[in-house]
Amino acid sequence: MKNKKISVLGICRSGVYAAILLKNKGNEIYLSDISTKESEEFIKLLNAHKINYEYGCHNYEKLLESEIIVTSPGIPESSDILKFLRKHNKYVISEIEAAYRFIDKPIIAITGSNGKTTVTTLIGKILNDAGYIAPICGNIGFSLSRALLEIEKYDCIVLEVSSFQLDTIDKFRPNVSVLTNITPNHLDRYANFDEYKLSKKRIFKNQTAADFAVINAADDNSMSICKYIKPQKVYFNVCEGSGLFYKDKWICKRENNSIEKYIDVSRLKIFGEHNYENIMSAVLAVKSIFDIDDDSIISSVEKFEGVEHRIEFVAEINKVKYYNDSKATTVDALQKSLKAFDKPVILIAGGRDKNADFTVLRNLIKDKVKKLILTGEASEKMNQQINLEELTILEKDFDAAVKLSKNLANIGDIVLLSPACASYDKFNNFEERGRYFKKLVLEKL
Ligand code: ADP
Repeated sequence: MKNKKISVLGICRSGVYAAILLKNKGNEIYLSDISTKESEEFIKLLNAHKINYEYGCHNYEKLLESEIIVTSPGIPESSDILKFLRKHNKYVISEIEAAYRFIDKPIIAITGSNGKTTVTTLIGKILNDAGYIAPICGNIGFSLSRALLEIEKYDCIVLEVSSFQLDTIDKFRPNVSVLTNITPNHLDRYANFDEYKLSKKRIFKNQTAADFAVINAADDNSMSICKYIKPQKVYFNVCEGSGLFYKDKWICKRENNSIEKYIDVSRLKIFGEHNYENIMSAVLAVKSIFDIDDDSIISSVEKFEGVEHRIEFVAEINKVKYYNDSKATTVDALQKSLKAFDKPVILIAGGRDKNADFTVLRNLIKDKVKKLILTGEASEKMNQQINLEELTILEKDFDAAVKLSKNLANIGDIVLLSPACASYDKFNNFEERGRYFKKLVLEKL
């Protein structure tokens, strides 16, 4: 891509850095965003690179002058602007596809419904601990285009990819792709679950027999779409053939009928079977293309503290352990988190309802929770649906709910914030909620 007229849709982290990268590569760039919320940081960057942009509308005529359109993941296919540009036969690609054209290093790409950020972060850690320089980028906040501004210094690219980004790839071909799992998600953007699955499958689209795919053998949805893909398949959660699996506190290697203990999970800082799956997929991804010895891998995995806001250990105060799982914005995530604890917990849940069915939580909460503190907008609906009056306390105010958990906790207890709801009733995002929770935990009673 050189000497082309390119328009980038979306003045966001990926859009702005795509514009800078493409401009540096000798293209003429125009950036357009329908939002009226101007970002000072981005405007400064765009001015410094002499890139023209518009906020508050899309100038259709101006956009039609471009041959190539680079779109951001936040813009749905059903948007008027994309429909219009496609009707005029414009070549529409994602930021990842655009940036991909300038990469000459191995790429490990990670997608899936859950676990992407954890797996991406761990792969980055294993590589960096073994002496490789690899940025973790993509959907994780640091855009691929931004990483590419310094591509010379990297040995490999570790890239988290969402289904929206995969929808607009064309030639993108990772050396290793990881598909963590597939569960129904984003059904507001896809016609149905099959469409969503096909979107995930696109990660393998351009891979050849020289490449690798890391697949969850226990996930029927993943297995069904991977039947006829070209890359060499490596599996976790296996119960036959070769690959990794978890059993009785060990991650084990299986080579047909020979089984070897590999990673002792009692030595790890992260826990929960979902996290053991994340570890297995990260290890397989790295081992597919790098010759890193097992001692180094095991040491990195043992030191890995997980990612902020995902069952994150906050502190032990008066022999009570506090965990922040603010990222658990769905019922499914709360279930994963509760299952990871083997002691009863004092659970703080609630926030903004995402039209969830909380009734499915009843039995698990009965089994795992000693006090349930419901907070935020969803508290009454949750209370009605979970219907465990003897365990439950309603406290709409978040500060008061956290304070109450501290008052109720006795020696040896666990306090867990795992909301099963969005944060928008009180916070800008789940990160802000998690950080605020940690601050309240660390404050004196
Ligand atoms: P993503 O980037 O795909 O959203 P994260 O690594 O940020 O995934 O984890 C988000 C939440 O998803 C976690 O808090 C946990 O509840 C759940 N989760 C993480 N890993 C898995 C997994 N392998 N399988 C199922 N759920 C998971």
